[in-house]
Amino acid sequence: MRVVIIGAGPAGLTVAESLRQSGSDADIVLLSAEPFPPYAPPAMADYFLTGNEETLFWKGRDICQRLALDYRENVRVSQVAPARKEVLLDGGGALAYDRLVIASGSSLYAPLAGYDLPGVYDFKSLKAAHALVEHVKNKANSKAVIVGAGFIGVEIAILLQALGLAVTMVEMADRVMPRMLDNESAEIALLVLRGRGVDVRLNTKATAFLGTRKATGIQLESGSVLRADVYVAATGVKPHVEFLSGSGIEMGWGVRVDEFMRTNLSDIYAAGDVAETYDWLSGERYVHAIFPNAVAQAKIVASNLLGFGARYEGAETMNSLKHLGLPMMAVGAMSGEEELRLRRGNALRKIFLTGGRIVGFRLAGDIAAAGLYRALMLKRTDVQKIKDRLLDPYSCSTGAMALEAAAGRLNFPMLP
Ligand SMILES: Cc1cc2nc3c(=O)[nH]c(=O)nc-3n(C[C@H](O)[C@H](O)[C@H](O)COP(=O)(O)OP(=O)(O)OC[C@H]3O[C@@H](n4cnc5c(N)ncnc54)[C@H](O)[C@@H]3O)c2cc1C
Repeated sequence: MRVVIIGAGPAGLTVAESLRQSGSDADIVLLSAEPFPPYAPPAMADYFLTGNEETLFWKGRDICQRLALDYRENVRVSQVAPARKEVLLDGGGALAYDRLVIASGSSLYAPLAGYDLPGVYDFKSLKAAHALVEHVKNKANSKAVIVGAGFIGVEIAILLQALGLAVTMVEMADRVMPRMLDNESAEIALLVLRGRGVDVRLNTKATAFLGTRKATGIQLESGSVLRADVYVAATGVKPHVEFLSGSGIEMGWGVRVDEFMRTNLSDIYAAGDVAETYDWLSGERYVHAIFPNAVAQAKIVASNLLGFGARYEGAETMNSLKHLGLPMMAVGAMSGEEELRLRRGNALRKIFLTGGRIVGFRLAGDIAAAGLYRALMLKRTDVQKIKDRLLDPYSCSTGAMALEAAAGRLNFPMLP
């Protein structure tokens, strides 16, 4: 059997690795549009700050040899032809498959004019990140403007600042990381960013990157123009699906898959940032573009390629911020019927309940309880009777054990 995997990110590599771990001797072709061994995007900022390769090439530079994969770098799929069971390659040539896995991840979503001008950088891939870092090298004391103060924008701001640049961020929403943080936790993140010297401008909408042959400024809706030495687009991500048009593969925001991570076409699966699955909380179709989901979905795909009929249970939104200087964690919904809140300076615990169950939480400062809250949330435990102890779960050992038991993380009967 020949399995062709489009994309060697965390999803694509995990499909291949899981197949081998299950003893499969399938002919596995792993295609990457980039000229690197498989890497983990969340480790890129750290790599450029410290030079540490270990977390970037998270399975080792030689993983493809060790797994006996037919790994092809710098190869981009331009089209999928399911009727012929082939993928067509950029620059000519085709590749036949018995089973196809779409793991093409996500790319920059920049709904503003001029985003593709030379001189507008992004951080969505290792190739793009190298180009940005190469450009800012030896440009200490110069000025960077980042459009978008989402999760990736904040990572870029911290990196560029550490490289010696003066950084301005413009964000059209009224808070930083608006998709991840509620007002109060965003306010804490904003304080930390400004405390580090990043000039964050909220309620400020950029409408275009200006320039003809290269970017020369950023046009703001207010009419003013920002000039800098470095321009960065961090306006969001979207599933990488353009090459699938005309293939007959059903798509919404991403590639639509069923509970087995199968597309509407037989023998074609999808996993990771490109896949549109379900949010387990709302039941709605959703693209949960985060690393742990890519890996979990890829394992389901590998099982099903082997005929096991494994079901994917859906995911919730989840994100953590490591480089801010203050740990932050955001999981699930950012509101609920009831809100539990504990604030001590910049440390915040906020838990959202609906129907007596945790539907989401935001933590800043001390994130030690994140695993406990998430377990309670995933188990859909009714926490009404124990909610007094939730905000400070580790203040007394008996209370902590009761909560851990309720979350199913201890083999104890639940205390009353
Ligand atoms: C800067 C940054 C920081 C992040 N931090 C976190 C974090 O802290 N925590 C977290 O959970 N998640 C984080 N993420 C998100 C996480 O990296 C993604 O969810 C994860 O990488 C998804 O894996 P994937 O394999 O689906 O896609 P990707 O990692 O995007 O990999 C897809 C690969 O497919 C290749 N490809 C695309 N199209 C084609 C084609 N036509 N032909 C051949 N190859 C193709 C691409 O070049 C790419 O290498 C971060 C992302 C970025 C960019």
